[in-house]
Amino acid sequence: MVPKTLDTDILILGSGGAGLFAALHAHQAQRRPASPLSITVAVKGLLGKCGCTRMVQGGYNVALAREDSVERHFMDTIVGGAWLCDQELAWKLVNLAIERIRELENELGCFFDRNPDGTVHQKAFAGQTFDRTVHKGDLTGIEIINRLAEQVWSRKINRLEEHRAVELIKSSSGDSLAGVLFIDMRTGEYVFVRAKAVLLGTGGGPTMYKYHTPSGDKSCDGLAMALRAGLPLRDMEMVQFHPTGLLAGTHTRMTGTVLEEGLRGAGGYLLNGSKERFMQNYDPKVERATRDVVSRGMYAEMMRGNTSPHGGLYISMAHLGPERVRRDFKGMVERCADCGFDLAGGLVEVVPTAHYMMGGVEFRGDCSTALPGLFVAGEDAGGVHGANRLGGNGVANSTVFGAVAGDAMAQWVLDQDFRQPDRAAIDAAIEVCESPFKRKSSVSLEGLRETLYDVMWDKVGIIRDAAGLAEAERALAGLDAELERCSLPDANRAFNLTWHDWLNLRSLVAVSRVITAAAIARTDSRGAHFRSDFPHTGPLEQSAFTSLQNGKLTMKPVAFTRVRPGESLLKNAA
Ligand SMILES: Cc1cc2nc3c(=O)[nH]c(=O)nc-3n(C[C@H](O)[C@H](O)[C@H](O)COP(=O)(O)OP(=O)(O)OC[C@H]3O[C@@H](n4cnc5c(N)ncnc54)[C@H](O)[C@@H]3O)c2cc1C
Repeated sequence: MVPKTLDTDILILGSGGAGLFAALHAHQAQRRPASPLSITVAVKGLLGKCGCTRMVQGGYNVALAREDSVERHFMDTIVGGAWLCDQELAWKLVNLAIERIRELENELGCFFDRNPDGTVHQKAFAGQTFDRTVHKGDLTGIEIINRLAEQVWSRKINRLEEHRAVELIKSSSGDSLAGVLFIDMRTGEYVFVRAKAVLLGTGGGPTMYKYHTPSGDKSCDGLAMALRAGLPLRDMEMVQFHPTGLLAGTHTRMTGTVLEEGLRGAGGYLLNGSKERFMQNYDPKVERATRDVVSRGMYAEMMRGNTSPHGGLYISMAHLGPERVRRDFKGMVERCADCGFDLAGGLVEVVPTAHYMMGGVEFRGDCSTALPGLFVAGEDAGGVHGANRLGGNGVANSTVFGAVAGDAMAQWVLDQDFRQPDRAAIDAAIEVCESPFKRKSSVSLEGLRETLYDVMWDKVGIIRDAAGLAEAERALAGLDAELERCSLPDANRAFNLTWHDWLNLRSLVAVSRVITAAAIARTDSRGAHFRSDFPHTGPLEQSAFTSLQNGKLTMKPVAFTRVRPGESLLKNAA
């Protein structure tokens, strides 16, 4: 089958904070106005309406206040990341976040909440030594994405919406990237887009867990494509669970969606099935400990069987005054009311929920990767957050590095030509996508998805051990084999959602296998990764991160380029 072919100088996969910032910066940075660059954003959903940046509730971490500093933000990020962060990337994050938030306000027109004196209001988020989270009520992402999308729409930037990237296609010589193969989801046609530079900005997304927060369009496609292209993925065992996912029963997709961290930041209590606070039994910082600690405390409490009717726990805000809760958390109050809960005055059932992947493709400070022509930014990229991402550092990460990638790609393409694609690789990728149409089998996709959810939640979830991980390894290999046997009931390619479900599951199972392999390899506990058979953190001085490439897992030492364990960049720190 010969796919339709398009050419563009810069191809951006995904329209979250990373993708849209990359598009704007590439557009702005182009050096030859006489022959402008062709920039294309290709996205699985609709531009401005999909991905997780739009779902950001809590806000954006940035050191703006006079009493705060980039050094303090940096130290919070490094300590929160349990010393696994790439320190140069983290340093870039905290410094460029200031530039980016000013750009969001002053150039793109975002309007964040303000103090009575006109300064930007910054709220408390867990794991931070200073209240530095900029926000727009509790619907910050909508403000950011709407303004970004308007700016992209108003420029000459091409859009391929409802186009699903399925394979990174290398050049015929195999040493660089030639372009990306897509399925046009509206027609089912294959489209090959040749590009001089490609940004992977598909946003990871741990939707392989029974309870998860990210949007349904995220199924780790970018990570799975990078894996198949032989790129190294780091820190993949580090999956962040947000402590407060809404728990409203199996009949609603609202189950698993997040109730923002600001609730605990503002003083919310977590209660067990007996309606008693319990976090004091797990950590002195109680509900304001970092996400990993709170999620683990909650999971342990759930394992003791002292749970709410749906098998979770409760969050309680009423002691802060229902009026205040209604005013400060309008979106959350309405969301809970939709599911029959009164957040302002009563109790809401919650469960830890898979939220974010700290792991991703290894990359350099200019967002380039080991494959010439491929850049990465946002949640697809690994190394910035180490073992645990601070709430508020996610959208900072995607916008900061999206812009860096846009600048870098505009520079890179200046002396690049289009590369001839490996035709056999295009044919092989199409063959795989077509394969379920050519089989007849009774394997249920629904059943496979439920099994995946359970395996990942029970065996590769908040608390792990060798036996459970080995079981998961076997179960995931079995799921992979089952997927290869699956057939599709409907041969019509246009908007064939079952076909896309199959493709989603393929990506999710491939990436789940990497998470499991990395979790087996890490025989200590730190950040989001907790092994009940290795509950202690090894010597921080010898910190190493997991890196998986072409099926081989290695432990690579962390370079302490700015600060060593036990030291601090803060002048007056002990
Ligand atoms: C509910 C929720 C609340 C959050 N709240 C906060 C918060 O308060 N503060 C914070 O810092 N972080 C928060 N985060 C995390 C934050 O949203 C992410 O860190 C960040 O937005 C990721 O940006 P991104 O650009 O990498 O990905 P996304 O914004 O998720 O965008 C990914 C894009 O890739 C597209 N895509 C996916 N697969 C394909 C494919 N195969 N082909 C083409 N396109 C594809 C998607 O459609 C989407 O457009 C939250 C996340 C969630 C889920």
